[in-house]
Amino acid sequence: MLGKIIEETARFIWEKRPWLVLTGAGVSTESGIPDFRSPGSGLWENYDPMEILSTRILWHKPQIFYQVGFPILMGFKNAQPNPAHQVLALWEQKGIVKAVVTQNIDSLHFKAGSRRVLEIHGHLRTGHCQSCRQTYPIEVIEEKVKQKDIPPHCSCGGIIRPDVVLFGDMLPPSFTEAEKLSHQFPLLVVGSSLQVSPANFLPAHAPFLVIVNLSSTPFDARADYLIRGKAGEVLTRINEIIEKLSLKDPNGDG
Ligand code: NAD
Repeated sequence: MLGKIIEETARFIWEKRPWLVLTGAGVSTESGIPDFRSPGSGLWENYDPMEILSTRILWHKPQIFYQVGFPILMGFKNAQPNPAHQVLALWEQKGIVKAVVTQNIDSLHFKAGSRRVLEIHGHLRTGHCQSCRQTYPIEVIEEKVKQKDIPPHCSCGGIIRPDVVLFGDMLPPSFTEAEKLSHQFPLLVVGSSLQVSPANFLPAHAPFLVIVNLSSTPFDARADYLIRGKAGEVLTRINEIIEKLSLKDPNGDG
């Protein structure tokens, strides 16, 4: 049964290309990074990420942010892309994917080779001074935290923070671009519970919608195709079928 849906979904993705892709924490669980909502995913069981990773804690209780939340995030630094990231990067090269909009901060789409990635929740590569705006590599922030400079200070005396979007922050300008693209291109959602706003506004605009996710989302009933499965396995199987379709029909017009 799943084989038939995967086959139909592959045809649909090939015919309606190019796609905008929206990824969430579920695309990176096969790289060893736990998501927030899957039961028993460990790291976050003792803490509420919406509390620890918030501007309220960053500003008012920086010791908690830098000693609890920040080390968990930095623990993901050595993770490597999995087949889901790799298939999406390949599809960009082949013109099947227009851009990837990701809620993830783990840089794994870039590591896999995707070029047009809109990181709507920021990333962990750099930080900046909130007073003079100077940019710092994340390793400098890590070192300052290790030296107990909490919150970390800039040479101007201002406070440096990582370039991740925390609960309570405004979204970066890349979200406006993502929203624009979501009106123009069909949307493939991979590994997102679609419970976090405003990323979950995007599926409402999309002319066509495909969802690949392990658990249910509020948009399942709206999806043209819905596959409950692991991102890496499902995208690999879809890609195998697309490879055959592209050989038979390189322009997709017959
Ligand atoms: P989420 O935790 O709310 O949902 C993840 C979804 O992925 C769940 O519905 C789960 O069933 C599904 N899933 C888990 N493993 C999967 C797999 N192998 N294949 C397919 N589906 C799988 O995540 P979200 O919707 O991205 O939103 C939570 C917030 O957490 C986001 O704002 C994001 O910034 C942040 N976050 C990021 C990372 C990261 O950078 N890797 C990790 C954890 C959380």
